[in-house]
Amino acid sequence: MISLSITVRALLCMKIDILTIFPRMFEGPFAESLISKASRGKILKIGIVDIRSFSKDKHKKVDDRPFGGGVGMVIKPEPLYYAMRSVGVRGKSSFYKGSSVYRRPYVVYMSPQGKTLDNEIIKNLAKLEHLVIICGHYEGIDERIVNYIDGEISIGDYVLTGGEIPAMVLTDVVVRMLPGVVKERDSIENDSFYKGLLDCPHYTRPAVFRGHKVPEVLLSGNHKKIYEWCEKEAYRRTKERRPDLLKK
Ligand code: SAM
Repeated sequence: MISLSITVRALLCMKIDILTIFPRMFEGPFAESLISKASRGKILKIGIVDIRSFSKDKHKKVDDRPFGGGVGMVIKPEPLYYAMRSVGVRGKSSFYKGSSVYRRPYVVYMSPQGKTLDNEIIKNLAKLEHLVIICGHYEGIDERIVNYIDGEISIGDYVLTGGEIPAMVLTDVVVRMLPGVVKERDSIENDSFYKGLLDCPHYTRPAVFRGHKVPEVLLSGNHKKIYEWCEKEAYRRTKERRPDLLKK
């Protein structure tokens, strides 16, 4: 059942809907590189949903003062809720019976208080058919929206102005995991963190740059030796820079 669902997923296009009050922020970043290529093919469909267009207020207001006082504004629950419904959210997501694949859509809220994004989370999100990402702003979103989301994801222990840049980060890292997006699967699997190690160093022409030489083995044409060198370098770097990864 698990492999069947994943096979079916591989044939389907992944849908990512991003709910934001600043839709124009996505125009530039999503018009370039892998995300743009994947959305032009049959691998990915991205929807940018303007939460403001679901505001019933005549001035299209989406935020209000916090109950209990204090500084800053909070994103109101109603426009966000209706924006979520517009992309098919009806409640929390659930697993397809007996599989590791989620019934769509799966909703995440980008939040500094969420689980810190890592490769395990990314690999799981990349199996989804439909991911909905909520971007907060100001002091955040009304807490009652938590009743309709499946998880909160942070991109690190610092606070950004809004969830738009975190949503771009999440989209980028999930999309590059989708089958067919990065041509050479090996290049993803050799990347830092995929197998719990950092990547080995990379070089290109010229073989000598201002007196700095490329390691001899890389010019040897001996693929077995090159592979062994890369493995050794990846391990050495990880030990030197991120010993915590080796402990895991
Ligand atoms: N008052 C909130 C707190 O301290 O937890 C921070 C609000 S922040 C100024 C506004 C929005 O930016 C958040 O609702 C969230 O969507 C986004 N955001 C900020 N930092 C983030 C992070 N490290 N990871 C993910 N999203 C973040």
